Amino acid sequence: MEIEELYKEIILDHYQNPRNYGDLDLSSNFYRGAYPFCTAEGENSLCGDAIYLQFFIEDGKLIDIKFKGEGCALSLASASIMTEMVKGKTLEEIESLINKVKLILEGKEESSDELGDFQALEGVKNLPVRIKCVLLAWTVLEDGIRDYKKKISP
Ligand code: ZN
Repeated sequence: MEIEELYKEIILDHYQNPRNYGDLDLSSNFYRGAYPFCTAEGENSLCGDAIYLQFFIEDGKLIDIKFKGEGCALSLASASIMTEMVKGKTLEEIESLINKVKLILEGKEESSDELGDFQALEGVKNLPVRIKCVLLAWTVLEDGIRDYKKKISP
């Protein structure tokens, strides 16, 4: 299979079977206690994409994340891939991942195997009008983490 075909299939798969889609189950024992529960949302008006995130942070780690959204296949596939990549990581690791994703989409860095399915989205850097679609979920999470940090140490 050609690599471009493979990438198309990966994107389509995340679009049609999004991972971590929906709402966190706040009634579950897992979340009982004083865990900060965060939400963040953002839109890309150019394309009509909207992403809504819910996530939990405990001891500096993002322990769970869910997303909902509407829009194009690229924005939703990127959100699905993002949630898989950040779950279980520390905030520091996530922030450096977000920076890496931005540099890749700006064409300043090459992606690598550690980026997993995100590599399927890298080609969008050659389509400037669609970069915002792919970046949306990542910048929404970035904003959400910034808000969380403000809340815990104003
Ligand atoms: Zn879009």
